[in-house]
Amino acid sequence: MKHIVSLNTERCKGCYVCASHCPKGCLTPGSVINNSGYIAIERVETADCIGCGLCVLACPEPRALTILVSKEVS
Ligand code: SF4
Ligand code: SF4
Repeated sequence: MKHIVSLNTERCKGCYVCASHCPKGCLTPGSVINNSGYIAIERVETADCIGCGLCVLACPEPRALTILVSKEVS
């Protein structure tokens, strides 16, 4: 299985709590200001994502982060 973290930058408030909880360094502060005036988080390397869900659990903003599971990859 491959895990992909889906990010909705418009729901992100730029607190970066998710980045501090990710054990694989998949998330980092970005450089784009969203329509609400926050500098949203950025996905860096989803290939390293282990699907632990810590980022989603830590995020205070509903549906800013979602974990998707794709079919097995070769
Ligand atoms: S924890 Fe949620 S709101 Fe905070 S930076 Fe990460 S995605 Fe954005
Ligand atoms: S699911 Fe786990 S490994 Fe993947 S981005 Fe979130 S905290 Fe990092």
